[in-house]
Amino acid sequence: MRYLLLLLIPALLAAQGQRPRVAIAQLSHESNSFNPRMTEHADFPQRALSPVPAVLDDWARSKDTVSGFVIGGRRENFDLLPTFVAAAIPRGPVSAAAFERLTGELTASLKKAPKLDGLLLSLHGAMVAEKYPHGDLEVLKRVRAAVGPAVPIVVVHDFHANIAPEMIRHCNALLTFKENPHVDTQDRGIQAARIMAGIVSGRTMPVQAVAKPDMVYNILHQNTFAPPLKPIVDESKRLEENPKVLAVSVSGGYQYGDAEWMGPSVVVVTDNDQALAEREAQRLSRMLWETRDRLAVNLPEPDTAVRQASAAAKTPVVLVEMGDNIGGGSSGDATFILEELVRQKARGWVVMIAEPARSSPRRSAWVSAPRLTRWSAARWTNCTALPCASGDACAACTTASGTSPRPLTEAARSSTRA
Ligand SMILES: [Zn+2]
Repeated sequence: MRYLLLLLIPALLAAQGQRPRVAIAQLSHESNSFNPRMTEHADFPQRALSPVPAVLDDWARSKDTVSGFVIGGRRENFDLLPTFVAAAIPRGPVSAAAFERLTGELTASLKKAPKLDGLLLSLHGAMVAEKYPHGDLEVLKRVRAAVGPAVPIVVVHDFHANIAPEMIRHCNALLTFKENPHVDTQDRGIQAARIMAGIVSGRTMPVQAVAKPDMVYNILHQNTFAPPLKPIVDESKRLEENPKVLAVSVSGGYQYGDAEWMGPSVVVVTDNDQALAEREAQRLSRMLWETRDRLAVNLPEPDTAVRQASAAAKTPVVLVEMGDNIGGGSSGDATFILEELVRQKARGWVVMIAEPARSSPRRSAWVSAPRLTRWSAARWTNCTALPCASGDACAACTTASGTSPRPLTEAARSSTRA
């Protein structure tokens, strides 16, 4: 039924001599389900939607998926309509209240829009909501219900999407960033607009297939510019040289989203060739699976890491707690390495740990402790290991030069609190 309606769009547009009116929307969040700090409505700054075209000019400069929607949409001579555009930095799951309010605002903006011929939609693909383990799937279902079956939707996900296979039932094409680090975000937005142009002009009729190997691709192995992923991503690009293939995506998955469908995926979108889409999705999925013997994670425990780092002939040495990946939405307050630095009486280290909110009891207890008057303020922002097990002689809290803790001036103290 949806495809029948899609066939009517180009004819209607041509008859009316109109440019296709295509909306741009975004609701994007990478949710770390191990972070107890929920992501709330206030964490999603919403972009201003007017005046048009000034906001579109502004968006085009941002080098992200939305900028690609604008640049690509203008190339395709779309009449672009800004609707709801909001993204939050990675953190804990989206609270139930925030999810309802955000999706309500998104769907309301689409419902009140003038009649749409298409929707370019940016969803991260790794949103976990308090009541919906796969938040993006629920968002997409609500968006589809809002715009109806006749409006084509092209979705762009992050490379770290945990794709639910059902996603492809509710959109006309789904693609993800190809690269990690994400240097192709704008390119994927442009590609999405190109696919949309094929749909609204009647030139193409996308069909798609998804395949998921039964594995987790640890973030340590997700560099798409090196093996084992590079040959598979290269193959996805090579496949897109076939005019029958509209998009091939290999997503690495997001291991900090502990929900069903966590893990890598392959999505292939073809021009009305379901068998080709299925075949290539399965083939690339097998390519992922065949790398499994190279995906062992062999990282040292904190005691070994600190011992090796302390004995290193060259400095600086950086120790990173991979389970506390702040770029991936964790809380940044793990103290495993700090604990071991203290235990081994390591000297000359700076420890970076997230500062609790200034008003929290934890912070208050820290600041009010009388012994802290002798300690440097730099540690207030860097160390939240409370209660401090080592007392005033905490070796982990020495300054970067390795000297003993010293009091800072009030100006320096203020700057560290910013
Ligand atoms: Zn990502």
